[in-house]
Amino acid sequence: MANLTMEKLRIQELLNQDKQDNLTNNQDYQQSLSFIRDHLQAFCYQYAKDNQLTPSEVSQRITRWDKQEWLNAIRELDTHDWPEEAKKRLTGLAKDAGINVHHMMNAIVGAGVLAYFVHQHSLVQRRVKADGATEIVRAQVKPRQANRLVSIVTDPDNATKWSTNLWDDSDQFTRDLQSVVSKHIRHGTSVDELINTLVPHSKALEKPNINAADRLAVAKRNAERLIVTESSRVSDRVNTAAMKMQGVLMVDVVNEPGACEKCVGIAEGGPYPIDDAPSIPDDTHPHCRCIKVEHRV
Ligand SMILES: [Zn+2]
Ligand SMILES: [Zn+2]
Repeated sequence: MANLTMEKLRIQELLNQDKQDNLTNNQDYQQSLSFIRDHLQAFCYQYAKDNQLTPSEVSQRITRWDKQEWLNAIRELDTHDWPEEAKKRLTGLAKDAGINVHHMMNAIVGAGVLAYFVHQHSLVQRRVKADGATEIVRAQVKPRQANRLVSIVTDPDNATKWSTNLWDDSDQFTRDLQSVVSKHIRHGTSVDELINTLVPHSKALEKPNINAADRLAVAKRNAERLIVTESSRVSDRVNTAAMKMQGVLMVDVVNEPGACEKCVGIAEGGPYPIDDAPSIPDDTHPHCRCIKVEHRV
């Protein structure tokens, strides 16, 4: 059954791309952490006494030196092509940064977290676009039909939900990391302790409540799931629309390797009339890599 073999290959291709994206995602995560670490360290060197950072030191009003540090940090992030949602948030952080040194250090943390979410956002966006395009080519429909499929991929409504959630998450993780770092500062931390909270532990030893890097690792794993979920969603939408255009009546669900019980059950429940067939991932679950295929007897 050539059809089924092709679909299994496609799933494998998608899984390989997921691995690739995880590597990129991890690099972005590491990059944001070192951004925060490096710039907080600069403030520590400026304000710490005997390697201790005290609340009174950081409650000082900001100086020209601080302002210049902030500008250098932001320049490093190269924000000119950031989405509006991110630019808006950066403006808010810049305002906070002007209050005092402590707030500026918090704003540095926020800018690093925000930069990480900007990367996540573009990773998901690129992936949806690429997988949508591949699915259209695979559909082998007439040019006019292909245009209709393109409009499914580019429909702004599709991106609104995940994108809005992602920016909300960026706010939450900004607050979370700021609070971890602030706690250290309020308790008069040593510089080493402060920097250590921005060094990730191995997964088994993670302490997301007290370690800022481990907290951001939660966001990293959320991003891994989101990429797969949205890639699956666009692929299923285009694939389903294409099969309808081609007059397909019945479809089967093909499981990803090592599929969960729910997905195996759904596949066994097939074939399904195309109009009542399960939507992936909505009727399966986030992070599902199963796909639909024309039912052949
Ligand atoms: Zn499943
Ligand atoms: Zn599945």
